[in-house]
Amino acid sequence: MRSVLEAVATRAEIDLGALRQNVREVQRLAGGVPLMAAVKADAYGHGADLVVPVLRAEGVAAFGVASVQEAVLLRELGVRERVLVFGELVREALPACLRHDIEVTLGSAAAVEEAIAADLALRVHLKVDTGMRRLGVLPAEVGAAAARLRRAPKLTLASVWTHLATADEADPSFSRRQIALFDEVRAAEGLADIPHHVANSGGLVQLREAVRGRSWVRPGGLLYGIPSSRVLASRAEVRPVMRLVSRVVRVEQVARGDTVSYGRTWRAEAPTLVATVAAGYADGLPRQLSNRGSVTIRGGTYPIAGTVCMDMLMADLGAPEGPGAAVRRGDEAVIFGHGGPTALEQAERAGTISYALTSALTGRVPRVPRS
Ligand SMILES: *Cc1c(COP(=O)(O)O)cnc(C)c1O
Repeated sequence: MRSVLEAVATRAEIDLGALRQNVREVQRLAGGVPLMAAVKADAYGHGADLVVPVLRAEGVAAFGVASVQEAVLLRELGVRERVLVFGELVREALPACLRHDIEVTLGSAAAVEEAIAADLALRVHLKVDTGMRRLGVLPAEVGAAAARLRRAPKLTLASVWTHLATADEADPSFSRRQIALFDEVRAAEGLADIPHHVANSGGLVQLREAVRGRSWVRPGGLLYGIPSSRVLASRAEVRPVMRLVSRVVRVEQVARGDTVSYGRTWRAEAPTLVATVAAGYADGLPRQLSNRGSVTIRGGTYPIAGTVCMDMLMADLGAPEGPGAAVRRGDEAVIFGHGGPTALEQAERAGTISYALTSALTGRVPRVPRS
């Protein structure tokens, strides 16, 4: 099977050594606060089956996922540590949570009532909306929700938590207000003794008050070495875990005036070498990389020429007498990761972020471990 995977043109190499180093760096930043590793979306596209065993071996004590379905997948991978669903409670999934020892988030007053009505012995986590305006009980409703939960004998309130909207940005003021509001509400509603957590990767790197004295930190992107912003990239000592590579399948010279790919959006201004690379949007590459992204071949960086197709893209290798002339059919083309642009750099050209790039990779791209 391995040899078949090696023969596949487009593959995501997963550097388990880099992952291990990143976990240790995150643990250092956490200063003893335990990690609840965010492994949702198949570990941000890296492959939970590869990533989770390394995290467990490094002592990660809990995992966070988006849905009950993802939580059950972790149990099927043999995870015995605690598993929390970050997404909103789905009433119909509660029996499965009981069966698989999955902990759930209550992100609204309605969810609190549904959990109580289910009458199951579950660990529940109350989420407070301190400014993200996505999910969570509003600060003014926290007291009532906590009172309801205290009178529900089968439920255990395992934590209260909130989520930061701007922790990866240079200006920490909004995050600081969110954290202050969170702590005010906890104190005012008699929740000070309940475990509590705040920090995503940004909070972990930039906000001591999101980390110190908390029960958990919830890093994701930092573990995978794909900071979500330039600020974080400059402040965090992590290495990219994923390297997305494909292969050159053709090199041809096009004439002045020739156009490349669907819609003819790229036109040669002079005789030009064009490489065809066997990766496209069905592998998960954003089509927005058309005429914006680049690939790296034999150490040279070449712009994507024309639109990204479903299964292929073309790269402008430049003049026939230039350095691009060294490129050969069969060469490796790095799309991001070691030896190419970072996921963040490539993502920015498509108007997106690193997380969206790695988590969009499709099932057609094998994740191949490297140690
Ligand atoms: C995804 C997620 C995280 C991790 O965020 P990163 O920016 O990847 O560190 C933390 N908390 C919650 C609730 C999440 O959904």
